Amino acid sequence: MPYMPLLRPIALALVAILQFPPPAVDMPKRAAPHWLSPYRDTANRLIGESVGSDAAWQRLAYLGDTFGPRLSGSPNLEAAIKWAAEEMQRDGLENVHLEPVTVPHWVRGRESLEIVGRIPQPLVMLGLGNSVGTPPDGVEADLLVVKTFEQLDAAREQVKGKIVLFNVPFTTYGETVRFRAEGPSRAGTLGAVAMLVRSVGPPGLRTPHTGALSYIDGQPKIPAAAVSVEDAARLQRMVDRGTTVRLRLKMEAQFLPDADSANVVGEIRGRERPEEVVVVGGHFDSWDVGTGSTDDGGGCVVTWEALRLMKKLNLRPRRTVRVVLWTNEENGGRGGQAYRDKHLGELANHVMMLESDSGVFSPTGFGFTGSETGRAKVREIATLLAGINADSIGPNGVEADIGPSVQQAGIPALSLEVEGNYFLVHHTPADTIDKIRPLDMARASAAIAVMTYVIAEMPERLK
Ligand SMILES: [Zn+2]
Repeated sequence: MPYMPLLRPIALALVAILQFPPPAVDMPKRAAPHWLSPYRDTANRLIGESVGSDAAWQRLAYLGDTFGPRLSGSPNLEAAIKWAAEEMQRDGLENVHLEPVTVPHWVRGRESLEIVGRIPQPLVMLGLGNSVGTPPDGVEADLLVVKTFEQLDAAREQVKGKIVLFNVPFTTYGETVRFRAEGPSRAGTLGAVAMLVRSVGPPGLRTPHTGALSYIDGQPKIPAAAVSVEDAARLQRMVDRGTTVRLRLKMEAQFLPDADSANVVGEIRGRERPEEVVVVGGHFDSWDVGTGSTDDGGGCVVTWEALRLMKKLNLRPRRTVRVVLWTNEENGGRGGQAYRDKHLGELANHVMMLESDSGVFSPTGFGFTGSETGRAKVREIATLLAGINADSIGPNGVEADIGPSVQQAGIPALSLEVEGNYFLVHHTPADTIDKIRPLDMARASAAIAVMTYVIAEMPERLK
């Protein structure tokens, strides 16, 4: 990647500006404990190297522009995986290799939704990942709108033969995603012929959000799609006016046979305890719309960048630092499971696992899951990141791909935490590089590099 010396003073000035004026509530910064003194210079060099270049952003832009969306089973994803391994080699990472994973291969095909009538009205929709398709002529039925599962159950007599819309305002992802995930089976069980869900995200600009559904075994599988927030509101208004709304949904969605994919792995081998491993990474697959820049190309690039920065500064910590780009998080989670299974015998030597999968907006610090001793240690290390305002430590560090390993072996877990409008672009065609700022990526890379370096280097193991 091109090194841009001119960017360095600009970036450093921006970092300085970001810290002034001081916060309105004068929170005293935690004082750095004495044991960190030997790491301060290296931490500052990692930060300086990172914020002085836009290498991470350029790499992410190249990834999205060149390979496009990276859904499991697609040639796009496999070409991107091959490229990533070659790039890691060019960065000078060690033990670069692919670990094979068999992944589900769902394809969207053509799809449409329209209000049927004298003048048909097309609506903006995206089929949900892993959905079954409709017959070639589609399914046509009257619409029933509900806002909760309780309302659906109360209306159970009217559900049969209908297309059900869950018109649920977005609060948090955790609260609203269940309508996308469970809605199809809940409606299908009561006899609905298709399910629609208001996109799980804040109001955007008529942008539909896809995402995986999860059918309940043994229940009827009905086709399911997300409609944009605006289209859900329109359908609601029509029904509130007493209009009988008739819809036609057409989806070619289907599963093809499972496909070959892989997790990408690269390392800096530890200088004293190579068998002890600190893992960082993100998931390399994405939905088939947008370019997966925020979810989760950015997370892959900033964790990978942590190793590139160490290599660039000729740092070889005591323990091995390993980057893993997991495959198939979005519609199967098989990359994270395959990693756990392949490394089962080695998990006891996993000192820490860190995943970035909340977008790379302005980094604030990390979430942490582990012991209280571990949390105290991580909070101390984070004081090295006060200068780039990425020193907060939140309550939860487990993400989807490190989850299986972390749960299996009780490994301390960290996740990158950011401030930004992740759910505005999440799973949409708008998930593209232009939503991401080079300096945010540089600060995130720096924060991950410093945290990872100290944990891999400090004499005692993170407990
Ligand atoms: Zn993700």
